[in-house]
Amino acid sequence: MLALDGGTPVVAEGAVAPWPQVTDEDRHAVLRAMDRATPWHWPMDEVRDLERAWSEWTGMPHVLAANSGTAALHMAVAAAGVEPGDEVIVPADTFLATASCVLQANAIPVFADTDRGTFAIDPDRVAERVTGRTRAVIAVDLNGLPADYAALRAVADRHGLALIEDAAQAHGARYRGEPVGGLADSSAASLNGSKCLSALGEGGLFATRDAEQFRLARRVSMFGEELAGQGRDYNARIMGWNYRIDVLAAAFARSQLARLARSTEVREANGAALTKALAEVPGIRPPIVPDDRTHVYFFYPLLVQPEELDLDLPVDVFRDAVEKAVAAEGLGIARWQPRPVPAQLLFQELRGYGKGCPWTCGHARPGHSYRDLDYPVAEDVCLRRLVLGQSFSSLGPPNTARTMELFAEALHKVLVEERDALVKLARDGMKG
Ligand SMILES: *Cc1c(COP(=O)(O)O)cnc(C)c1O
Repeated sequence: MLALDGGTPVVAEGAVAPWPQVTDEDRHAVLRAMDRATPWHWPMDEVRDLERAWSEWTGMPHVLAANSGTAALHMAVAAAGVEPGDEVIVPADTFLATASCVLQANAIPVFADTDRGTFAIDPDRVAERVTGRTRAVIAVDLNGLPADYAALRAVADRHGLALIEDAAQAHGARYRGEPVGGLADSSAASLNGSKCLSALGEGGLFATRDAEQFRLARRVSMFGEELAGQGRDYNARIMGWNYRIDVLAAAFARSQLARLARSTEVREANGAALTKALAEVPGIRPPIVPDDRTHVYFFYPLLVQPEELDLDLPVDVFRDAVEKAVAAEGLGIARWQPRPVPAQLLFQELRGYGKGCPWTCGHARPGHSYRDLDYPVAEDVCLRRLVLGQSFSSLGPPNTARTMELFAEALHKVLVEERDALVKLARDGMKG
């Protein structure tokens, strides 16, 4: 019997460990930072250590830690030389920050549709969106799977565009052997508590191959000031912010980074085990991993497919019933990004900074609008997607293949053994 109808839940409370996994090494690292960090000075050793370690991991010569992934993305856009009114092509299906970082530079995000196999930005759709004003492309390694960088590189080079990687969801993954964070001209990673590399609280990492980009990124992250000679001259050159990372967050993230190789192995193995176990469960599509890259499953996304079950039910009704029934079985499940980013009010009504800026500020090409949504794949993915896990990253250690068996059991119960009860739940949902 479905747990929703009074049956026993498949996943008992406490059976799935939360992310991030915190060890004594992490605790000692944070305590050491507290003892070392007084009196206040900048940059602190823990911040430098984190930057050095991420530089080594990604192969990017210049790394700057930041206080969020959103800040690191804005640094990347500024470092790429994007100016007011310039256009930057971004994925239609991603977290808001991939697009709002462009607005932060007074520039214009232009959205491109999704590749149905990988859920990343579709390089062919990117090529169609290029205009004389386009300066950069931001690709996202969505869910934990790298985008198609060979094809994106070809489009970027053909049009002279900077290629930026939003690596917020995929630390540890690889594309053709190369690490996420090092797949484009520059990258921005998030260290938000939920992410595969976690600062427990908030943090971010900007990385670039280019010394001049590094200078521009640092300027925007340090009040618009240049570091001149020995120290600060307190003379802002441009508009800047304070994007510096907290030293305790940096110490925690540095300690986690020392275990990233191991936690990545666990994620890959857990994801592969879950996908294998779900092969027998119709009505949902597990993620696909192309041969030339690896997946670290920040999200484990499922697309619901009522059509496969010959059910005469609207997709959203079926999806909501699956979500409800699976959640009652004790398995965390959630809708993430219920709509493409350009469908948010910020874009639909060109709210921006208010008074229509930056679209109406006079620097942008006239006539930008996000009303005629033309992202059929992104819309379909957003309609069908449910992501698994108690916290976003339940595929990480210490969870094991045994935990994945529980996940698969819960889905098998809802979609196979108790399908009649599920369909009844969906039909009741339609009435009510
Ligand atoms: C989490 C995330 C961000 C933002 O990172 P924060 O550290 O939360 O600011 C940006 N892009 C994507 C794809 C993300 O998942």
